[in-house]
Amino acid sequence: PVTPQESSRSSSATGKVQTINSFGMGRLLGKNAIVTGAAGGIGLETCILFAKEGANVLMADISKPALDKASSKLKQLVPSAHKVEIQVCDVSKEADVKALVDHLDTWGGVDIMFNNAGIMHADDADAIDTPEKIWDLTQAINVKGVWFGCKHAVISLRKHNKIRGSIINTASVVALVGSATPQLAYTASKGAVLAMTRELAIVHAREGFRFNALCPAPLNTPLLQDWLGDDQPKRYRREIHFPSGRFGEAIEQAQAVLFLASDESSFVNGQDFVVDGGMTKAYVTPE
Ligand code: NAD
Repeated sequence: PVTPQESSRSSSATGKVQTINSFGMGRLLGKNAIVTGAAGGIGLETCILFAKEGANVLMADISKPALDKASSKLKQLVPSAHKVEIQVCDVSKEADVKALVDHLDTWGGVDIMFNNAGIMHADDADAIDTPEKIWDLTQAINVKGVWFGCKHAVISLRKHNKIRGSIINTASVVALVGSATPQLAYTASKGAVLAMTRELAIVHAREGFRFNALCPAPLNTPLLQDWLGDDQPKRYRREIHFPSGRFGEAIEQAQAVLFLASDESSFVNGQDFVVDGGMTKAYVTPE
């Protein structure tokens, strides 16, 4: 068992114990982190925060040009970043995910795995109109990709004799509340992420490996905003449900991920961690 005192320290890649300053920079000092979907909205903001807090970060995405752009932005914003590398990875391919996690062997193994890559396909629809190939593609990336990430993170944590690790899987509020604007394959995939995360949290709890799921509400990121475009009624149909009257920002998700990744959340495990501006708790919203 890990005591709160122990969890205020972390082992660096060199095995040296360093003290974490919980009140400022260095909340992830000495930790090795992998972020998938690192070139996207939530992923990049999270990499930036992780790097600011002293982590070594391996940024993974399916798109090399997007990764190049994202890592340049990070290095520009966080010149003091420790180690930041990129690796192209299709999370739906186990060999890619294994290679990604194995890359950290020379760093001392993974401490934080953020399985965040996901798609919401434009052809995803209701029970009648969702094409089977879109269903399969969505499950392959959003569910199997998260499973592969969890699997290889556990293998690495054990290989490097870690006594703690934090795995965060991105789900969505649609795993918790029904939507009358359906994307059935996406919703089913995110429900699977929640159930899988919960079970892994229980299975690995005595090893000190924590698993939590992030449930973001609709955000100002390309994933949703490109899809909404200039369609004002489509946009309003969603905005009206926010008590705050606005979509969330990627940075607001990244702040939650940072907490879940750090030892500050040492007793938070198996949670559906909802970051939604109160949306899933609202009945009638303010005018
Ligand atoms: P985004 O589209 O900005 O980023 C997603 C990233 O994943 C992209 O950079 C993309 O290239 C990458 N990606 C896609 N397929 C991949 C694959 N097979 N392997 C590796 N990388 C791949 O989206 P985002 O808003 O940052 O979304 C991140 C996560 O948050 C997703 O899992 C998404 O489902 C979830 N989410 C988003 C919202 C929202 O409104 N944006 C709401 C709830 C949940």
